[in-house]
Amino acid sequence: MTQTAVTSETPRAGIAAFTNLSAAFAELYGTEPEGIWAAPGRVNLIGEYTDFNDGFVMPLALPHTAVAAVSRRTDGVLRLHSTDVPGGVVSLRVDELAPHSGHGWAAYPAGVLWALREAGHPVTGADIALTSTVPTGAGLSSSAALEVVTALALNDLFDLGLSPAELAVTGRRAENDFVGVPCGIMDQMASACCTEGHALHLDTRDLSLRQVPFDLAAQGLTLLVVDTRVKHALGDGAYAERRAGCEEGARLLGIPMLRDLPYAGLDAALTTLADAGADESVIRYVRHVVGDNRRVEQVIALLDAGDVRAAGPVLNEGHISLRDDLRVSCPELDLVVEAANAAGALGARMTGGGFGGSAVVLVEAAAADTVAKAVSEAFAAAGHAAPGIFDAVPSAGARRLH
Ligand code: ADP
Ligand code: MG
Repeated sequence: MTQTAVTSETPRAGIAAFTNLSAAFAELYGTEPEGIWAAPGRVNLIGEYTDFNDGFVMPLALPHTAVAAVSRRTDGVLRLHSTDVPGGVVSLRVDELAPHSGHGWAAYPAGVLWALREAGHPVTGADIALTSTVPTGAGLSSSAALEVVTALALNDLFDLGLSPAELAVTGRRAENDFVGVPCGIMDQMASACCTEGHALHLDTRDLSLRQVPFDLAAQGLTLLVVDTRVKHALGDGAYAERRAGCEEGARLLGIPMLRDLPYAGLDAALTTLADAGADESVIRYVRHVVGDNRRVEQVIALLDAGDVRAAGPVLNEGHISLRDDLRVSCPELDLVVEAANAAGALGARMTGGGFGGSAVVLVEAAAADTVAKAVSEAFAAAGHAAPGIFDAVPSAGARRLH
């Protein structure tokens, strides 16, 4: 996908233009689609590695979206095409869909259809053409966008009556049980439930949520996403290891989940863990999770009070915790935070699973170009490939377009 530059001097990019999806669908399948749907990628403002501890997260939807043109079929055939992937149409039989059976990228939308059928919904097949402007593998949830747009389209076409949260749960089931990726619920909930001009305060324990006003432009602020374009192999086993460490911490503390440990009890709990002979890493993980849950609450209080600038230092604290306690950062992410702050950003942190992927930078709108340029120059000076930098405008969640 080609990116269009915002201006010639800034490395900040615009969003690539969509292919004409109706025309692509008609060429592939011989008819016009019954409808067109969109679902966004997301970036998480604060609350990292908290969603598998029943904790809080605070994502916002990006203007970058997956779009699907879809028609129903009644003959048990599922046909899938992505304009972003070389190769033609993937054709599958819905009654033969089985978890962990490959299919590459097509496993994400196919898994959604499988999850709907597993839940007893009479989905009898579909023709689907997909395209997306969400960068893949950058920690911005291109996979959740694909799942949620597919779930929403099938929900509408087959009149299933599922709520946005139920569509999110369907997408997560597809990713966990069909594709085989152990992700939490944040990504799909963000794609399904976010609204324009807001960040989503999500309680991952019961999926209760609140739209928190986050009108950056009105405040003269910009949230930059910096995609480092790296993915270190170390990340593969790290998620499972952190997850197991958090479960061990909760077990030693005699609580169901780390969510159940209030911040006021953190110091005493860390002493309890040390006395119980907990691994040093478990102590660090507990400190991060309980601290990040609190940082979500701090940021929400600041946003509600209209003091968005004061969230900057909280983002910096979140980064330090992810770097030193959870140890999921990497040199490229640390460099974004360091270079952005040195150039006058209000605060910055890695976002998503870490070991590469993206960072967010909160900055005065007037200083956004300067900061973006400083980060790009720091990458060049360190010998890293140029990062992708764009504005995270809080955007709408999943919706029907036509
Ligand atoms: P992330 O969700 O952070 O972008 P993941 O590894 O979870 O990264 O998901 C990326 C995968 O999702 C891709 O490798 C591909 O299989 C699938 N995917 C995402 N966007 C598209 C697209 N436009 N077309 C086809 N497959 C896609
Ligand atoms: Mg993903």
